[in-house]
Amino acid sequence: MDIVDNMEQAGQSWDDAEKLDLATIDRIERGLEDIGRALSLMDEGSYGLCEVCGAPIEPLILEEEPTSMNCSIHGGSIHGEREAGDG
Ligand SMILES: [Zn+2]
Repeated sequence: MDIVDNMEQAGQSWDDAEKLDLATIDRIERGLEDIGRALSLMDEGSYGLCEVCGAPIEPLILEEEPTSMNCSIHGGSIHGEREAGDG
């Protein structure tokens, strides 16, 4: 039985997995912060309103980024609609 050998291999891949996890967890935590903010806005009844001007955020923006806090004028971006048609 090569249990020790197996454990060494597992140790190596665990090290890699840990690094990956830290980056992933960092990203998830930031995402959770956004979601937390969005949820508290839902509680207040102001979810979907631009935090700058108070106008309803375009549905397309919320579709792309449900945690967006800004209308298209104030930083919200619609990724799928990139300067489409200028004439
Ligand atoms: Zn706005």
